[in-house]
Amino acid sequence: MPFYKLIDALGNGRLCPLCFVERRNVKSYFESLLYEFVNDRDVQMGIRDSGGFCREHSGTLLSFGDSQGTAILYDALLRDEIERVSAALSSRKPALPERVPRCPACAQGRAAVRRDVHEILSGIDDPELSSALRESPPFCDGHFALVFNAVRSREHRQKVAEIQKAKLERAHAELSSFLAKQEFKGSVEDEKGIEFSDGEKSSWKRAVIRQSGLDPD
Ligand SMILES: [Zn+2]
Ligand SMILES: [Zn+2]
Repeated sequence: MPFYKLIDALGNGRLCPLCFVERRNVKSYFESLLYEFVNDRDVQMGIRDSGGFCREHSGTLLSFGDSQGTAILYDALLRDEIERVSAALSSRKPALPERVPRCPACAQGRAAVRRDVHEILSGIDDPELSSALRESPPFCDGHFALVFNAVRSREHRQKVAEIQKAKLERAHAELSSFLAKQEFKGSVEDEKGIEFSDGEKSSWKRAVIRQSGLDPD
C-alpha cells in the first residue's frame, strides 16, 4: 500500500486504523464486484460456495444502492438455490450441504489487514508514521492483538503497547469524566455550570465506534 494511504488510515480520526483499512478494502471489493464481476459465473459460484455475505456486508452491499448489479447477482444466486432444492427433492438420498458461512467480503478485509499490519510495523521508526500512529484513534482489541503479536523486536513491542495504552487511557478518562458529570447532574437541582467538553460529549459514541469498527455516519 502506498505510504500516503497508510498515513490516511492512521489519520482517519474515528476508527481503529486497521478497521479503517478493512472497511476501505471491503468497499473497493464491492465496487469491483458490482461494476465488473456480477455476471461472472465463477464469482457468482464463489459467493454461493462461501455461504453468501454476512449481515454487516450485506448492509454494505445495499448501501451502494446498485439495483441492477445487485439484482443480477441475486438472480443467479436464487436460481442456483432453487435448482439445489429441486435436486434435493428428486434425490434418493436427500441432503443439502450445510456450509459454515465464510463471507467473501470479510475474507477480503482480513487479507488487507494482514498485509497492512506489516507495513505499519515496518515504518514504525519513520518519524511521520510514528507521529501519525500516536495521533490516531486506538486500535480495536482484536487488531491490537494482531499488531502486538506481529512485532519482532522487544523495543518496538514496548513502543506500540505504550502508544496504545496511552490512547486507551485518554479515551477512558473522557468517558469516566462524562459519566461522573452525568451522575452529578442527576443529583443536583441546578444543572447550570456543568459543562461537557466536546471529547466528553462524544466519548460514549466513539468508544462503540472504535471497538466495533462500525461507523454510523
Ligand atoms: Zn480494528
Ligand atoms: Zn462479511
